[in-house]
Amino acid sequence: MKGHYPSRAMLAGIDLGGTQVRVALARSDGHLMASIKTKTAMLATPQAMVDWAAGEIDRHRGREKVRSITIAAPGPIDIKRGVLVNPPNLPWQNVPLVAMMGRATGAKVQLANDADMAGLGEFHHGAGRGSRNMVYITWSTGVGGGLIIDGKLHRGAHGTAGEIGHMIIDPNGPLDNCGQRGCLEAFISGTALARETGHTAAELFAAAAAGDRQARSVVERAARYMGIALISLTNALDPEIFVMGGGVSRSWALVYPTMIETLRSSPFIKPARRPRLRRARLGDRAGQVGAVEWARINQ
Ligand SMILES: [Zn+2]
Repeated sequence: MKGHYPSRAMLAGIDLGGTQVRVALARSDGHLMASIKTKTAMLATPQAMVDWAAGEIDRHRGREKVRSITIAAPGPIDIKRGVLVNPPNLPWQNVPLVAMMGRATGAKVQLANDADMAGLGEFHHGAGRGSRNMVYITWSTGVGGGLIIDGKLHRGAHGTAGEIGHMIIDPNGPLDNCGQRGCLEAFISGTALARETGHTAAELFAAAAAGDRQARSVVERAARYMGIALISLTNALDPEIFVMGGGVSRSWALVYPTMIETLRSSPFIKPARRPRLRRARLGDRAGQVGAVEWARINQ
């Protein structure tokens, strides 16, 4: 499958989601050349996913060699060993994705956290462009994040930095799936809101948008909890900007006023060091854009 025409190498980013798998090909400078997607359900096994992605990469690379590939995947992942451990929204366990993709393509392959990659995408090409210190938050069925510190993705000692959803907001709060009590995610994730209200998060936000008072108060309380998390993150990390993606960011007008008001209510965070709060710009392309960027950085 490898090309016989040595020339400028290309990069690829793969975003492995519970619903869709996306592949992006780019030149070595990061300029996107092709973007392809398919439904994850069409690819029944990890090997089928690897074969599909490798086939698309081969089909779109022309005569050029693909040098570096990043796979963005949902946690928990083992970054050092390149293994997908047991993602909550895929029925796959302990999959050595890096080795499999390396065998299929001959490229250097990295595995990375999907929220980290979405954050990196927004930092380089989306709402965070021009900043140096940015916190990316994805608020959807779960709550995750990615940290950019001094212009670089900060992954921490074990690759797990940015688990914003597991910041404890109330030690007497509900038990979270992770085993801790009172995590942000246990209060405001789409899953938690659906469990609490008996409606899907999409229905809840639609009802709030239509003026339903009860739905509005549930959404406002969730936005206040997120605002409290923004205060703690500001005190811990001193970012210039928060960029928020995920399904809930589509209801920006419903959540932004309460989040910013809560952030502004902190007497400790003076206006001069108060971060901006912006909605993500790249939508569901953020992960693949960030994965290409990570492949470029690590080529
Ligand atoms: Zn938790």
